[in-house]
Order: sequence, then C-alpha cells, then structure tokens
Amino acid sequence: MQLQQDLLPELAQLEHLIASAPADLRVQVLAKVPHMTQLLPLYALSLGNTGVNKPAVLLVGGVHGLERIGTQVVLAYLQTLLQRLAWDKCLQHTLEHCCIYFIPLLNPAGMANGWRANGNSVDLMRNAPVDCVEGAAWLVGGQRISRMIPWHRGRTDKMEIESQALVNFVSAELFQRPFSLVLDCHSGFGSTDRLWFPYAKSRRQPIAHLAEMYRLRQLLFQTYPHQNYIFEPQAQHYLCHGDLWDYLYDQAAAYNNTLLPLTLEMGSWNWVRKNPFQLLSSLGMFHPVKPHRVRRVLRSHLILINFLINASLSYRHWLPLPDKPQLQAEAVQLWY
Ligand SMILES: [Zn+2]
Repeated sequence: MQLQQDLLPELAQLEHLIASAPADLRVQVLAKVPHMTQLLPLYALSLGNTGVNKPAVLLVGGVHGLERIGTQVVLAYLQTLLQRLAWDKCLQHTLEHCCIYFIPLLNPAGMANGWRANGNSVDLMRNAPVDCVEGAAWLVGGQRISRMIPWHRGRTDKMEIESQALVNFVSAELFQRPFSLVLDCHSGFGSTDRLWFPYAKSRRQPIAHLAEMYRLRQLLFQTYPHQNYIFEPQAQHYLCHGDLWDYLYDQAAAYNNTLLPLTLEMGSWNWVRKNPFQLLSSLGMFHPVKPHRVRRVLRSHLILINFLINASLSYRHWLPLPDKPQLQAEAVQLWY
C-alpha cells in the first residue's frame, strides 16, 4: 500500500520481509490498530522451538512512535536471521533449543503520526496498571492531566489495545517457559547506550531476580570486554508509573520461572551533538539522520542480541546461581 510505504516505511519493510520469508517464520497479527481510515496490523513473528519447556528471547521495537531506530534495529536482526536460516548450522541448532520472538512495531499509529504516544495520545510505557508510590518524575513519569501533554497514562479501567496485545502475548508465550529474556529497543536517553531493567516504579525495592540480572551483566561484560553498554535499573534515572515491563515482570512471578526484561535505551544525544540540525526535524533527538550513522547503529547491537540469544539458550549453564547471596550483595552494593 502506497500510504504505508510513505508514512510507515518500517511497516512496509516488515511486510516485505514477511512476504519473502521461508515457511519457518510464523506470523501472527496481535491486533489491528486504528489510524485515520485504516487499520494497521500489529505483528508478532517467531522462529524456533515453541515447546514451553524451552527458553525464549523476545525482541520488541517501536513502543514509542518517534523512536524509529528501535524498530529498525529489530528488523535488521530479523533480516539477518532470515538470511542465516538458509545456511547457518549454528542457527539451526539454536532454533531447535529455543524460540525467538519479534514484535518489531508495537505502536504503528504513533509511528505513522511521528509522535511518541499511540493514536489515542497515550504513552504505552505509562499505560500498565502500576502505580509508583515513591514519587514519579513530574509529567515525564506519567500523568492524567491532559492528553495534550506527552506521557499520558490512559484510562484507569482498561489498557490500550497495543499494551493489552503485548501483555497477552508475553503472558501466553513467555510466562510458562523456564527462562526468557526480553530486549525492548528505545532511543532518546543520554549519550551512551544503556540496558535498563525493572523496576521503573521503585528505587528502594529491587526485583526478585536482581542477582540473576547482575550475573547476566557479568556474563556480558566478561565475554565482551570492549562493549560499551551501561547496565542498570531504570529507577536510577527516574521513576515512573505504568511501565509495561514492571507490570509483566510482577505478573510473571506467579509462574516461578525466570523472565528478565531489558530495555535498550540507545543514547541519541551523541547523534544530536554530531548533527545539531536534528533538533529541527520532527524526529529530533530520537533518530540518527545520516545514513552512515543509521547503519552504524543497526550493526552495533547485533552482538548484544546474539549474546542474549546464546545466554538464553545456555541458561542452565549459569542458572541457578551457586553463589546467589554473594552476587545479590554485590548487586545491591552496585545499584541500591
Ligand atoms: Zn522510548
């Protein structure tokens, strides 16, 4: 559809990948999101072993419509995997033992509008039924004053269609698995690439899997000593209401498995510093403008995503933690 190509090149690219993908790629439409006179599909894709006893990784992008680069990072990885399917024996082995899910564009209406919120002016990352009681950041942390102001939390009685679709999907596909990792790709905060984990609602209360998060960070930093991510709880920067990963993490607790949600916050102030004209564009701070910079971003996270898939596949080689009390103490020392 021409409109889609013009307004939403990412959705057009996704549909092109789907159309040319081998049969191994499973495709679901989780919801149809209204946008003007159209309904935009909210896709979820998967590759690999669907058995609930196997670990999984979920890659999410486009929660915030302005942050197109997040969707592009997920699509770039999907494209690479689809190519590798044809020849890569290591990938075949990986997919026999784990499942890889993709939700590359959670908020298609927001991206079509070129704004952060969804089509109802609700910020999906403030939309879950979670209240921060320690003093959320003013406005930015979620507000119900006006939908004219960003960061609106939406209604109290039900979630937005996109948030509900994500919650249903994660509950159905991940909660029963022994181990799963999520990487939700965003941009716009600071000048360094950060990996954030819950909670966003509390600076005092660490998640129950703090030691496991700390161990995952150790694995990443020891395995890739030249990497450049900062790995920390989101609450170190600001507190907010309604974070979907806070909500899903807490919901998962009833299943007694391990779900570790990460948010990749790609530091975009760097891109702005190198190209101040960006501040004038509607994408402003959230997307690198120059093609060589986009390409650099797209390739720079491939190692991270490969690492997360390998860490999931091999979770039994590092979990349960034999020295959990020690790691817990180190994690509290570092972060709390
Ligand atoms: Zn974001």
